Amino acid sequence: MTTTTYSIDIPIRDQVDVLVCGGGPAGVAAALAAAGQGATVHIIENSNCLGGMGTIGLVPAFMPFTDGVNFLAGGIGRLVLDRLEAAGGVWPSERGTTVPIKPEVLKRVYDDLCEEAGVAVTFHARAIDVQRQAGRIERVICAAKSGLFAIAAKAVVDGTGDGDICAHAGAPFDLGDEHGAMMPTTLCSIWAEVDWQAYEAAGSPSVEGRIEEALADGVLSVEDRHLPGMWPTAARIGGGNVGHCFACDGTDERSLTAAYIWGRRSMREYEQYYRRYIPGHEQVELVATAALMGVRETRRIRGDYQLNSADFRPDSSFPDEIGRFSYPIDIHLAKPDKASFDEHKRLFTGGRLGRGEHYGIPYRILTPQGLDNVLVAGRCVSTDRSMQASIRVMPGCFITGQAAGIAAAMVAAGCPDIRAVDITDLQARLRRLGAFLP
Ligand SMILES: Cc1cc2nc3c(=O)[nH]c(=O)nc-3n(C[C@H](O)[C@H](O)[C@H](O)COP(=O)(O)OP(=O)(O)OC[C@H]3O[C@@H](n4cnc5c(N)ncnc54)[C@H](O)[C@@H]3O)c2cc1C
Repeated sequence: MTTTTYSIDIPIRDQVDVLVCGGGPAGVAAALAAAGQGATVHIIENSNCLGGMGTIGLVPAFMPFTDGVNFLAGGIGRLVLDRLEAAGGVWPSERGTTVPIKPEVLKRVYDDLCEEAGVAVTFHARAIDVQRQAGRIERVICAAKSGLFAIAAKAVVDGTGDGDICAHAGAPFDLGDEHGAMMPTTLCSIWAEVDWQAYEAAGSPSVEGRIEEALADGVLSVEDRHLPGMWPTAARIGGGNVGHCFACDGTDERSLTAAYIWGRRSMREYEQYYRRYIPGHEQVELVATAALMGVRETRRIRGDYQLNSADFRPDSSFPDEIGRFSYPIDIHLAKPDKASFDEHKRLFTGGRLGRGEHYGIPYRILTPQGLDNVLVAGRCVSTDRSMQASIRVMPGCFITGQAAGIAAAMVAAGCPDIRAVDITDLQARLRRLGAFLP
């Protein structure tokens, strides 16, 4: 490949205590928690709203905030949920404790929460590089409509979902399985004219139940037997987690481009599938696909501890615990074949904790190796693949996000680096915020 060197002076647009890159659930939780500690905070967000997958990605529901007994995502998770409910942004759930989302309401809730907390937000700005001095990031370089600019910060939280900032700063990471294969992505969607009453009257049959028939009939062209489905998000509206884009690398825009094209194309097949085989969906119509690809898995930043499948048990606990969680191991199949589908089902049903059970989350999964003033939060924290597939859901991201935000504020306030954070103090601050730390 031929290369070129490009060098220009750019403005340092802001200087803050805590810079949060990426405004998804983890980034927003980090920003609100840091601001609550008195830090000045700026969020740099690539898209046009906060919320990441749950808003611009059209992921239709929050997975459970609870283990069936305890509210695990206490603190910012509770705050977001309460505000969303108060704003009418939650459709009553028929599916246990998942929380169907009205994405437009959730966008406004995040806007309001950040404004009230005094968090500065810039949309349409992507963090593309860092300037570091030894293990410290001093400035993050951003690319936006107006050009390039930098933001200087005492501490940085990587909430990009992909671990972009840690990777730019040179932290080690893992990508996918031993062959580099990652979970498929999904272009989530909104559907109109779903007759939920007719669907329920028919016994709410599994939407996966007719896939074999649809493959035989040529309605579906890819042997993908895993169909999470649609959640009712308003009367006659479905939020769709429908279809997969296989072999998509969410850290490569060329791969993402192909996935968007396939994702949009494949929705025509699923429209036919639902109309033909699923009761109550005879008139269903695709309204829109998401503006942001639903990426489940990319980099897992290597931190001072790697949460691993042996920790997925109710009695796991850590001295530096920042929260507890319980969502099952949900590794979507990397290949569309029967064997992978069966393996997903085995893991999803087998890798599950009981009611009232939860595993511990240590602070060290937020501290990237080799970096001193950077914390990682959300789906790219330091885990093996199994645990990533559990902690990646949004309530888990609130938990790691708020801890990263408080720790970042402590570093900005004078704590020498992320490893010098007084854990007892961090835990006390988390408890005051409402975190679940029994
Ligand atoms: C298809 C799909 C279905 C899912 N279903 C559910 C579900 O039903 N319930 C549930 O709870 N969870 C679900 N999840 C998981 C969950 O939505 C995500 O794992 C979670 O949103 C991750 O949160 P995050 O904050 O780490 O990252 P994200 O939500 O991905 O947010 C990252 C944000 O950072 C921004 N960003 C990225 N790179 C940069 C950069 N370099 N500079 C600036 N901004 C940047 C992005 O635009 C985005 O807004 C699903 C995920 C997918 C993909």
